[in-house]
Amino acid sequence: MTSQAIGSSVSCADPEAPSTLTVAAAREAILANITPIRTNLRLPLRDALNAVLAQEVISPFDVPGHTNSAMDGFAMAGSDLPQQEYRDFKLIGTAVAGAPFNQSCGKGECVRIMTGAPMPEGTDTVVMQEQSLPINESQVRIAQGQRPGQNVRQAGEDIAQGSVVLNPGRRLTPADLGILASLGFAEVSVRRRPRVAFFSTGDELRSIGEPLGTGEVYDSNRYSLYGMLQRADVELLDLGVVKDDPDALREAFDSADEAADIVVTSGGVSVGEADYTKEILQQLGDMRFWKIAMKPGRPLAFGRLGNSHFFGLPGNPVAVMVTFYQFVLPALHYLATGTPYQPTTLLAESVRDIRKRAGRFEFARGFLQQREDGSFSVDPVGRQGSGILTSMSRGNCFILLSEDCEGVKDGDKVIVQPFSALM
Ligand code: AMP
Ligand code: MG
Repeated sequence: MTSQAIGSSVSCADPEAPSTLTVAAAREAILANITPIRTNLRLPLRDALNAVLAQEVISPFDVPGHTNSAMDGFAMAGSDLPQQEYRDFKLIGTAVAGAPFNQSCGKGECVRIMTGAPMPEGTDTVVMQEQSLPINESQVRIAQGQRPGQNVRQAGEDIAQGSVVLNPGRRLTPADLGILASLGFAEVSVRRRPRVAFFSTGDELRSIGEPLGTGEVYDSNRYSLYGMLQRADVELLDLGVVKDDPDALREAFDSADEAADIVVTSGGVSVGEADYTKEILQQLGDMRFWKIAMKPGRPLAFGRLGNSHFFGLPGNPVAVMVTFYQFVLPALHYLATGTPYQPTTLLAESVRDIRKRAGRFEFARGFLQQREDGSFSVDPVGRQGSGILTSMSRGNCFILLSEDCEGVKDGDKVIVQPFSALM
């Protein structure tokens, strides 16, 4: 692992002089430093939900395994269907899903058949029950207008034997679990999940349950981080609140680095921050302190500790969430899957003017709604300060206002990133 790409697009000879980077350049520099996990393990099917597949899944047989009926009705040879008016067929037996009809069906004959039952020999067509007229116990009348081959599912029409059904690198979905089960797989080979250690830094922080003194705040970042990490399907190590004390910080960084692929902290990385955090980080590894042209979330530290990648997120609660979603999540996704992270975005009509300064990327929080005609509208939620965490809770999306945007007028189209797509 090398860190040569860190800050390659900027001058960063002196890590104390923070460089200004665009969001895209920062993300690129981060991803260039991440090597995807290649350690595999076998998991029982249920435990593999959301895990990243490490093997090619090849079908050992056809699905469906037999050509079978798609309807309840009568099976016969398509060549026997009446060209005009009707024909009466001799009913010679019954086929149900668990109990096939094992004899052959001849000319002028038909078999009562249920959905899923294998097609008896000599038949290739099913006439729906509702379109047939039983004459008596052993005779069924079929009128013209039926199509040879209809209402039949062909063997292998969903999955052909020997075909590749799932490729390595994909996150297993509920449908994938169903497919694997239908192929008889009890276990599957998946990549090891990323391990993430995280803690908060700051002398003003108290853990919930402790009394609050003047000027002190409860550590909320660890909880929003916990929530976002939980959804990202990683193994978590919560190291609590760490005081702004050199020994305590060094110890926390060491145990985090030992246990994790990625270490995430919040607070203490702002420009001009008096905390020890920055000082210690500089001693511990190859570290960059960036000033990113974005709002909120300007300061960001990124680098390598001995064993892990490090993200030093800003302290402000909204900035933590924005930088996590925009930088840590793409890194985690790449680490886990080896594929680029592309969360769904939508085009929506802003129902309000939005003031915006050119030159930085702004992640405004908005409330996205679908109108009756199917189109989307978005309304920026009230106050947008980087300490106003309720904006992340009242909003359900980021409104992506790129560097060159100079403001939005009521009725303009904007690109939004639904929070629900970020995981
Ligand atoms: P910093 O980046 O350390 O200067 O912190 C910026 C602001 O975020 C300050 O008001 C901090 O009190 C606040 N802050 C930092 N860490 C946390 C945290 N874990 N929970 C809540 N607020 C925090
Ligand atoms: Mg601080």
